[in-house]
Amino acid sequence: MPARSASPALRLPSIDSLLRHPACLPLAERFGRDALLASLRQLLDDLREPVLSSQLDAVEITPEVLAGRAGERLALQHRSHVRRVFNLTGTVLHTNLGRALLPEEAIEAVQMAARYPLNLEFDLQSGKRGDRDDLIEGLIRELTGAEAVTVVNNNAAAVLLTLNSLGARREGIISRGELIEIGGAFRIPDIMARAGVRLHEVGTTNRTHARDYEAAIGPRSGLLMRVHASNYAIEGFTARVPTAELAELAHKHGLPLLEDLGSGSLLDLTRWGLPAEPTVRQALIDGADIVTFSGDKLLGGPQAGLIVGRKELIAKIKKNPLKRALRVDKLTLAALEAVLGLYRNPDRLAERLPSLRLLTRPQADILLQAERLQPSLAQAVGDGWSVSAVAALGMIGSGSQPVARLPSAALCLRPLVSKRLRGRQLLGLEAALRQLTIPVLGRIDDDALWLDLRQLDDETAWLAQLDQLQVPG
Ligand SMILES: *Cc1c(COP(=O)(O)O)cnc(C)c1O
Repeated sequence: MPARSASPALRLPSIDSLLRHPACLPLAERFGRDALLASLRQLLDDLREPVLSSQLDAVEITPEVLAGRAGERLALQHRSHVRRVFNLTGTVLHTNLGRALLPEEAIEAVQMAARYPLNLEFDLQSGKRGDRDDLIEGLIRELTGAEAVTVVNNNAAAVLLTLNSLGARREGIISRGELIEIGGAFRIPDIMARAGVRLHEVGTTNRTHARDYEAAIGPRSGLLMRVHASNYAIEGFTARVPTAELAELAHKHGLPLLEDLGSGSLLDLTRWGLPAEPTVRQALIDGADIVTFSGDKLLGGPQAGLIVGRKELIAKIKKNPLKRALRVDKLTLAALEAVLGLYRNPDRLAERLPSLRLLTRPQADILLQAERLQPSLAQAVGDGWSVSAVAALGMIGSGSQPVARLPSAALCLRPLVSKRLRGRQLLGLEAALRQLTIPVLGRIDDDALWLDLRQLDDETAWLAQLDQLQVPG
């Protein structure tokens, strides 16, 4: 390097000359003149000090170079905040990563609904105003055996709306073992309070009997509620009243039984070798008057809350002004109808519905993929790491079967440093993977970083960005 102090003092170009410079014109076109102006100002501000202290060469402040740097900054600032990621956490229905992936049929339906006007609330037969629930009521009735149906924004909304419609200013009787919290501050006691239902808890955490419910029923009772304890398991010395028995008890006293199924599968999942989950149809057969469940958990569709059950109760729920505040939008309805349509042919469901396809991917398949990718990853992370293709255990996620584990396979990265330094290395690599164009998310466990490959569909895109990886030293 020549001694810079010897060169004559450099001067930054003026903002005006930069703005007029041909290298900046495409940037003004793409980002707008105001954004470009702000970016150039900022850039020149940042360079003033280095220029004064002669830390820069003349080539570093030519208009072309400055335009290039302003362009990079603008592109980064204007990059979308909603970004695709690789979910290699091992949790398939990951709430923080958007839960279920939609099938092509649903994506097409969403595009159609986004692009064109549609009969959202318009009855094409009569030419009169329609109800958006009517668009999918028939299909949901067919798939669940329910008398009637309404759909809202998510299952939390479904529970809130149902409780408020059927139990406001009265008591809701529920077992202490079912007063659960779902991630993200959805707690049954809080939702009940907000719905205006007085909580009447019965039994104990591990055991609740029919006589506990019976003793609680009185003139102030409004409903019985059952919540599927979806994100934890009570094991050991436990007792729970079967839905059928609880329904009988509720009906004997003229009360409705509401069942919050949470993940709510429409079909028996054991048919695909997955852990048994209560189905919506069975809950209704057992006598639940209203069943609520999510659209984007095991159902594999868009975020939505489905409320199904007895006709007169659904009618009451639909009349609640809160329904208007919690309703679903057209994109969701379009996607939901397309997803539900796939359930008409269960034999092909596991190929067509991404969530089910991913959940049922055989471990041997995933392990082969891990072995195939191991050399590329080992090369990308370099000498400081041991990289192995190993069997691993994943989970369904979103509160479905919290204790069940899905036999899967992963790329397991272990830092080859002393135990004391491992934690930092792991966090560093985890952060580096997050910086990739399509961030890669794994999980740290047992002094290693695990990339569970169950959900790695797009191997090419994953491999293509590995050379960007900046492994911390
Ligand atoms: C997931 C879940 C909810 C909340 O459903 P969202 O669709 O996330 O709003 C409520 N109750 C149970 C039992 C659940 O599992």
